Amino acid sequence: MTKKNLGPCSVNNCQIRPNQYRGITEYALKKAKEKGTYNQYNYLEVGKQLCYPHYLEIVEPDCNNGSSADNNKQDHIIVRKPLSFGEKISLMTRVLYEKQRIEHNILELTPDHFQTILEDAEPQLVRFFDELYNTFIPERRSAFNRKEDKKKVVNICYSIAAIYNRLVNNYSLEI
Ligand SMILES: [Zn+2]
Repeated sequence: MTKKNLGPCSVNNCQIRPNQYRGITEYALKKAKEKGTYNQYNYLEVGKQLCYPHYLEIVEPDCNNGSSADNNKQDHIIVRKPLSFGEKISLMTRVLYEKQRIEHNILELTPDHFQTILEDAEPQLVRFFDELYNTFIPERRSAFNRKEDKKKVVNICYSIAAIYNRLVNNYSLEI
């Protein structure tokens, strides 16, 4: 196995952020010279790296018809693994901690506002409140009960945060 290439791409001002890079080998450089693409990028050296779209464009220009950098859009998508439930919990705890300790905010107990705080602070927590709600309150309930249940979920969130981080624990439950 060769060592993993992590970039950056050696092409000047390359803005592509792919999930794959290729090392420039002597063979690759030779190919680029044969194909004529090297003329445009004559500063490339063996041992440096190229993002995959540029690698195809420079070293393998025949593999794609047209502009290879455009034909490999799937390489530009940043693949982010969804966070696990536990990771979201600790992220939420950090948000609550920062709100309380750093910004000296009072505890937010209105469910909608609580949800907005989480989502604004951390995009990865978008819909997390709903996820919690569905986890803890699975049955169908009346509108009034749903509202009350949401408040309970806020309580649960603060309780979890208190367990995770003692600094958030001066919150007393109102269940
Ligand atoms: Zn590049």
